[in-house]
Amino acid sequence: MGKPTGFIDYPREDMQKAPAMERVQHFNEFEKPQSEQRVKTQAARCMGCGIPFCNWGCPVSNLIPEFNDFVYKGQWKNAYGTLMSTNNFPEFTGRVCPAPCEPACTASLVEKPISIKQIELSIIEKAFAEGWVKPNLVPYRTGIKVAVIGSGPAGLAAAQQLNLVGHSVTVFEKNDRLGGLLRYGIPDFKLEKWVIDRRVALMEEEGVTFKTNAHVGENISIDDLKAEFDYICLCCGSEKPRGLGNIPDADKKGIYFAMEFLTQQNKENHGDQLHPEVKIDAKDKHVVVLGGGDTGSDCIGTSIRQGAKSVTQIQIHKALPEERYESNPWPMWPKTFATSSSQAEGCERIFSVVNTAVKGGDKIEAFELQPIKWPDGEIKSGQRNYEIAGEKYDIPCDILLISLGFEHAIHEGLVDYLGLEKDKRGNIKVENFRTSDPQIWAAGDMIEGANLIVTAINSGRQMASTLKKYIKSQSDK
Ligand SMILES: Cc1cc2nc3c(=O)[nH]c(=O)nc-3n(C[C@H](O)[C@H](O)[C@H](O)COP(=O)(O)OP(=O)(O)OC[C@H]3O[C@@H](n4cnc5c(N)ncnc54)[C@H](O)[C@@H]3O)c2cc1C
Ligand code: SF4
Repeated sequence: MGKPTGFIDYPREDMQKAPAMERVQHFNEFEKPQSEQRVKTQAARCMGCGIPFCNWGCPVSNLIPEFNDFVYKGQWKNAYGTLMSTNNFPEFTGRVCPAPCEPACTASLVEKPISIKQIELSIIEKAFAEGWVKPNLVPYRTGIKVAVIGSGPAGLAAAQQLNLVGHSVTVFEKNDRLGGLLRYGIPDFKLEKWVIDRRVALMEEEGVTFKTNAHVGENISIDDLKAEFDYICLCCGSEKPRGLGNIPDADKKGIYFAMEFLTQQNKENHGDQLHPEVKIDAKDKHVVVLGGGDTGSDCIGTSIRQGAKSVTQIQIHKALPEERYESNPWPMWPKTFATSSSQAEGCERIFSVVNTAVKGGDKIEAFELQPIKWPDGEIKSGQRNYEIAGEKYDIPCDILLISLGFEHAIHEGLVDYLGLEKDKRGNIKVENFRTSDPQIWAAGDMIEGANLIVTAINSGRQMASTLKKYIKSQSDK
């Protein structure tokens, strides 16, 4: 159980990062590997609570006090086994999970929480370094064939789980490379792409087949897949971005969805050559990022690395408070003011403004904003009862990156063709992960709406587990 007084004896130490001035010179990861001793000391801070709320806070229910204790005692191989029992890809979550486990840690009531994410990453990277991570070879095949559509974290987790019980799994991915948003959304400075390749190589050795440039509903017929495979698992994400709404002139040049910009940079980092006419280049430009969240932060970090003249992030919401609202108690995720590593690299943040017009000729030159005032206290999602609080004004803008979130999965093509039922938000409607077509199952952002890597992994795992039981129940008949 770690050291009972560890959280008092030792201070929390955050992951060490390269200084902002240094890391913005490149696109590589900037968090530094931690020494074993340092990680052991951090694990010693875990007091092994009777009811571990960190475990409740973690969407895959990682056995956090258990692996902390193993690390504290230097039993890294046991820590690795414990970690892998709940999480298929700790090398992804250890890098990019926002770690909802940490604010749920009991120590955070009186002190800083245990650095769980850092410990998780250290365990899995030590396991790779020591050669403990081996493909799980399957001793037999069931003869059941499953097609997984989409190779994001939900699809990869589902494929791995279904393959492990002997089903024959083929993953179809419309992009030229695997990984979904891990590959083309999240920048290299948060997750270098060899990390995905390393895991995919293991899954191939385990027997999973991957097909890229395989756009189901476009160049691959879903009817052919339905005939060839016993089950189809849709893990296609939530790819339809929210747009600018009714703002006039929103079709000017220089206005892009965040994913257009981020995908390009990720492709360039892979060595792909982009034609200068299509390349969105922030160098020496005034960049405005509209909207927050991970996507907005990734646009900021990428623009800064490209050499933008200025980066401004604008949000309709007021800045969150430093302390939790009463309606947002521990151990819930704290809705408090936070600064991401990209924001800390140098960007202006403007809160409580509405965007009213796009200015310029053919190309955007300025973005018109108007200050607003929100009622005191917590603002609920979807609440819009603000008042206009000032005159309109312009900010310079050569590139506007729209990062207002995602509506739902793309319906045109596959989803419409299959006639799948949707919920009122446009996500694919499932009952225990099964869609309105009994041969077709679904998981990840496609059923939940845009969420997190760890929730997608969990969803893929849960869908696989439910489908496994369903297949068994069918064969028992
Ligand atoms: C820019 C950005 C940054 C983010 N950063 C973080 C972060 O730091 N931490 C975090 O936890 N979460 C982050 N998220 C959220 C996280 O990436 C997603 O919640 C997660 O990737 C969803 O996983 P998924 O497998 O459901 O879908 P996706 O990752 O979207 O994968 C879906 C895959 O399906 C493929 N596909 C779709 N349709 C078809 C078809 N018809 N045929 C074949 N293939 C198809 C797509 O090409 C894609 O590869 C971020 C999201 C974005 C957009
Ligand atoms: S997956 Fe995320 S929430 Fe779960 S233990 Fe790791 S960092 Fe915490």
